[in-house]
Amino acid sequence: MKKTTALTLLMISLFASAQQETIDQKVNSLLKKMTIEEKIGQLNQYTGDNSATGPITINPNKQTEIKAGLVGSMLNIIGTKYTRQYQELAMQSRLKIPLLFGQDVIHGYKTTFPIPLAEAASWDLTAIELAARVAAREASASGIHWTFAPMVDIGRDPRWGRVMEGAGEDTYLGSKIASARVKGFQGNKLGDLNSVMACVKHFAAYGAAVGGRDYNSVDMSERMLWETYLPPFKAALDAGAATFMNSFNDLNGIPATGNAHLQRDILKGKWHFQGFVVSDWGSIGEMVAHGYSKDLKAAAFSAITAGSDMDMESNAYRYNLAELVKEGKVSVDLIDDAVKRILRKKFELGLFDDPYRYSDGKREEKELNNIENRKSALEVAKKSIVLLKNENETLPLSKNLKTIAFIGPMVKEYKANMGFWAVDLPEINYDKWVVSQWDGLQNKVGKNTKLLYAKGCEVDGDNKEGFAEAVATANKADIVILSIGERHNMSGEAKSRSDIHLPGVQEDLVKAMLATGKPVVVLVNAGRPLIFNWTADNVPAILYTWWLGTEAGNAIADVLFGDYNPSGKLPMTFPREVGQIPIYYNHFSTGRPAPDENAKGYVSSYIDLKNSPKFPFGYGLSYTKFDYSGLKLSSTKIKSNENIKVSFQLLNVGKVTGEEVVQLYIKDKFGSVVRPVLELRDFQKVKLNAGESKTIEFTIDKEKLSFYNDKLEWNAEPGDFEVMIGASSTDIKLKSNFELVD
Ligand code: BGC
Repeated sequence: MKKTTALTLLMISLFASAQQETIDQKVNSLLKKMTIEEKIGQLNQYTGDNSATGPITINPNKQTEIKAGLVGSMLNIIGTKYTRQYQELAMQSRLKIPLLFGQDVIHGYKTTFPIPLAEAASWDLTAIELAARVAAREASASGIHWTFAPMVDIGRDPRWGRVMEGAGEDTYLGSKIASARVKGFQGNKLGDLNSVMACVKHFAAYGAAVGGRDYNSVDMSERMLWETYLPPFKAALDAGAATFMNSFNDLNGIPATGNAHLQRDILKGKWHFQGFVVSDWGSIGEMVAHGYSKDLKAAAFSAITAGSDMDMESNAYRYNLAELVKEGKVSVDLIDDAVKRILRKKFELGLFDDPYRYSDGKREEKELNNIENRKSALEVAKKSIVLLKNENETLPLSKNLKTIAFIGPMVKEYKANMGFWAVDLPEINYDKWVVSQWDGLQNKVGKNTKLLYAKGCEVDGDNKEGFAEAVATANKADIVILSIGERHNMSGEAKSRSDIHLPGVQEDLVKAMLATGKPVVVLVNAGRPLIFNWTADNVPAILYTWWLGTEAGNAIADVLFGDYNPSGKLPMTFPREVGQIPIYYNHFSTGRPAPDENAKGYVSSYIDLKNSPKFPFGYGLSYTKFDYSGLKLSSTKIKSNENIKVSFQLLNVGKVTGEEVVQLYIKDKFGSVVRPVLELRDFQKVKLNAGESKTIEFTIDKEKLSFYNDKLEWNAEPGDFEVMIGASSTDIKLKSNFELVD
C-alpha cells in the first residue's frame, strides 16, 4: 500500500473513532440528565393508531405519555404527515428525545417486491440487495427509521406460514441473503437519509416450531442451533445490522425473550453486538402465558436481565421496571446499558440534529412516485419465477397466438399478488397500483391476440359451478393459462397449514382444463412450497410464481412469452406429501441410507411413498440448456492453510441467452460427528449467450470444509471429501474427491 493511502486510511479511521467517541459522550451526558422514568421510557415501544384509511387520531393517553418522555419508539405510523405529528409531541418532552419510527417493511414499501422466499429463488444477491435498497429509500422518505427485517429464520417446514418471509431452508444461501438484505436496507451508513436500520429477526430458532405451528416450542440441540439456525444471524450482524428482534418461541424450555443464553451469552457476549434488541410484539408479556413468569413484573425482570432492550407492546417495562429498580432487583446499570444502546442509534440516525429529517413531504412525494422503483421491482420479480416443468417446449408462448384463455381465481385480482406483509399504505388504490396477471398479459399481447377470461372457481371451497364456463372458454382458445395457488392471507404470520395441498377444487380445475385437449400452462401463486402432484405429473408446463408484488403481471407475461428466460431455483424442498415434512436436502447420512428413491425394506424410507422430494432444493429450469464439463481441481490433497481451485466449463447449448445458478456442494465423508449427505458451500449465477461457454471457478478453503465438531468448535477435520457441482441438489453434473491432511 502506498504511504499516502495508508495515512489517509489512518486519518479516516481516527476521524471515525473520534466521531464514535462524540456519540458515546453525547449519550453519556444525556443519560446523566435522565430520570429513571425517562430512561425506562426509551425502552418502551407502542403501536400507532392510524388505520390505513381513516384520519389520524392520537390516543390521548399516548399523547400524554410521549410528552412526558415515557415512549422511545412507535411502530405502524405511516407517512411523513403522521410521523411528524408524533415527533412534535416528543419535542414537547423535557429532554426532547426524538421518537424512533419502526415498520414491517419486509419486501418493499409502496413498491412491493416479491415476497422474500420468492426473492431467494432468484439466488441473485445483487437483485436482493437492490430490492431492500429501494424499500429503504421509499420507507425512509416516508418518515420511517427502522424496518423489522430481514427475517433470517431457516425454514425447513412448509406448514409454517412464515417460510414466505425468509430465504428458505439453507444456511449458506440464507446467510448470503441475510447479508445482502442488511446492506440494502442500511446502505453505506446509518444516518444517510436513504437508509433505514435493519432488524434481524427472530432471534432465535423460531422457524423450527414443532409441527410447523406458529409460535410453538422449539427443542433443539446446541449443535443444530449453531450449525443451521444461527449463521444467518451472524452474517447479518457482520454486515452491520443495527438491531435484532427476539422471538415468540421458547428454546429448550426458555422463552427466547427471556433467554440470557441467546441474548447475553451469544449475541451481546460472544458476538459483541453493540446495537439493541427489541422484543417481538407482546412477547415479554407472553412469558406469563408460557408459564415461565408469574406475572408481568416477573416477565419484565426476566426480559431485561436476559438482554431484551426494548419492549414492543407489552407494557411490561413501562409499569414494572421502576419498581424493580427501587426494590434493588434490577440495577440501574442494566437499564442504562439498554438505554444507551437505543440512544446511540438515535444519534447515529441524526435525529438529535433534526428530529424531522426523515419527515420531508417533498422527498416522500418524489420517492414514492419514482418510476425507477417499479422497474427494479419488475427486474427482481422476473428473476424470482421458477420454471418447474416445460415438456415439448410448451413455453415460451408464441406471440402469434390468436386466442388465449386466461383462467383462474386470482387472474384479475390485485392485492392477491402482494403477499401477506405488504405495507397497507393509506390513499393507495391497489387496482391502479398493482399490475394484475390479467393486466400484465394484456400489456404484452398485440392487437391480433384475443384474451378470454373465466374464473373457474374460488381459491378454496368446493364449488365447481364455474367449471363449465371455464371449459367453454378454454374450448375457444389455442392455449390455456391457468393461474392457481394460495391467497395472500394463507401463508404468513399465524397462517400455518396442516395440509399444504393446492387448496379447494383447484386441482380438479386443472384436470378439467387438461381434458379439453388444449395445451395448458399452469402458474402457481403461493407463499410456501405447495403439494400439487397430479398437476406436476400431468401438466406440460408449470411456473412457480409465488407472490411477486406490484409488477407481478408484467413479470409473468415477460416469462410466458420468453422476453425473460426464467432463472430461478427453489430455495426450499417441495415434498410429495405432508408426511415427509420436515424434508430438506442437507439431512445427515444415516446408517441405512436408501440407495434410490424407490428403495424399501430395512433402509431409511417410507413403505408408502418414494424417498425423494417432488422438487428438490436448488431446482429450476430454463428455456435453454447448460452443459457442464471438464472439472479440474488444482490439487487433490491439501493442508488446512491451502486452497483448492475448482474449475469447469459451462456452455449454453440452447438457442437463447440464459442464466444458470451453478451450485457447489461438499460432502465430508466422515467426521467426529455425522455430516450431511451434501451441503451447499458456494454458488454463482452466470449469464451466457446461446452457444457461449465460460470457465467457472470456485475456491475451496478451510472455511468451506469447517463445521462444529464434537466439542462444538468450528473447525475442519482431516479426511476425505467430495466436491460436487450441480444444477440442483440432486442434479449433480460433475464431482471429484480430495483429501484434507494435517
Ligand atoms: C411479528 C414480527 C413483527 C411484529 C411487528 C409480530 O407479530 O412476529 O415479525 O415485526 O409483529 O409488526
